[in-house]
Amino acid sequence: MNAAHPEVVVVGAGITGASITFHLSREGTKTTLIEKGYPASGPTGRSSAIVHAFYLHPELSELAFHGTEMLRNLHELTGGSADFRAVGMLWVCGHGQVSEWAEAVERIRGLGAEIEALSVREFAELAPGFALDDIALAVWEPSCGYADPATSTTSLVDGGRRHGADVRLGTVVLRLLVESGRVVGVETERAERVYADMVIVAAGPWTRSLVLQAGIDLPLHVERHPMAVVDAPGRAQTVLPFAWCDDILTHYARPEGENSILVGTWSGGGTGHRNPAADRPGSVPDPDSYEENVELDESAWIVRHMTPRLPALATLGLRRGYAGLYDMSPDDLPIIGNVAEGLFVAAGTSGHGFKLGPAVGEEVARLVITGESPRLAPFHLERSSLRPRPVNTPATTATLSETM
Ligand SMILES: Cc1cc2nc3c(=O)[nH]c(=O)nc-3n(C[C@H](O)[C@H](O)[C@H](O)COP(=O)(O)OP(=O)(O)OC[C@H]3O[C@@H](n4cnc5c(N)ncnc54)[C@H](O)[C@@H]3O)c2cc1C
Repeated sequence: MNAAHPEVVVVGAGITGASITFHLSREGTKTTLIEKGYPASGPTGRSSAIVHAFYLHPELSELAFHGTEMLRNLHELTGGSADFRAVGMLWVCGHGQVSEWAEAVERIRGLGAEIEALSVREFAELAPGFALDDIALAVWEPSCGYADPATSTTSLVDGGRRHGADVRLGTVVLRLLVESGRVVGVETERAERVYADMVIVAAGPWTRSLVLQAGIDLPLHVERHPMAVVDAPGRAQTVLPFAWCDDILTHYARPEGENSILVGTWSGGGTGHRNPAADRPGSVPDPDSYEENVELDESAWIVRHMTPRLPALATLGLRRGYAGLYDMSPDDLPIIGNVAEGLFVAAGTSGHGFKLGPAVGEEVARLVITGESPRLAPFHLERSSLRPRPVNTPATTATLSETM
């Protein structure tokens, strides 16, 4: 093993694994990316892909700000595209959040982000047609918006390939190879063995079961997140010109081209602090089997979170919706770092990992190559409430205390 440039296997070509692969390869690390489907065939491909820098958690803001910049400049970075739409991102909160949100705006502006706090009067000018009830403060990020999650992910994978990554699509990783307590590679469904100095599992909702093979029971669970699709032929960007998040009525939305508007429920994890008033979706025991369709009743229930704020929605139709999966940690923060010898995890993105992904990939590459990434330190499994329970499996003798 070359200490500066270990050989790495990355499992999963969502936005996280694609970005890790891109950045490792660009830095000259021999990287094999293994994906059971195709790029963004998991939750990334279902993402609303809203991008913004506003977070109450400082390191999330930094990752989001840099991730958004990378998506905006993805063509220069990879030769591909993110299909970035800078429609702006508008937030509102109630009276209890004003000082915390206003402080976060100042902090994030210090990173170089275009972001401002708006009074209720300024909000009303920017968002005519929106009810002002209970709004105490708005936050406006004019250069943010949304991107295309599949195009972004494929661009990073292609970029990685151009830098020499070995990309194996349609290939299931069946198990981790563990020798003397150390993860030394993976075995695929085709019985191929790929050995490496480090295996990075970025397998979203499938991460927990894979990592369990190394004796580490990560505190991750999976939730189903349904999206309503409002039918607004030719009017979508008139009714909703920007990406939108309402922390009071617990929903978010964005235009999807000219003809539709995506609406989802919001629990606050995306700011870095969960809103206790919001509903929580149920857990999904098996990520390979969940209800992907969203019938009209469920769509109507989602949209009802938003119509009091934007009454024009009630005049529009509904298309069939769809649901995707969130891989959730208990505190809504990702889990990123070494969890056993030879085994690294980048998962638990808790419903807000698309915009973080490009910057997470860069930081993971830095951490793997140099051993340091202060920006990722708060996301390590060692953080206070997330200690895993070592379990006994025949595959390994590794325990966390031996390896961290
Ligand atoms: C409906 C919805 C809306 C969202 N909206 C936003 C948003 O507006 N903004 C935002 O920032 N985030 C949003 N998110 C969250 C964001 O999409 C995710 O946090 C992010 O895409 C997670 O990416 P990932 O690469 O970590 O994981 P995933 O996308 O889950 O990718 C994991 C990959 O690993 C592969 N894999 C799994 N097991 C194996 C195996 N054994 N062998 C080989 N390959 C394997 C899977 O096929 C998959 O492609 C949303 C998510 C959903 C579902």
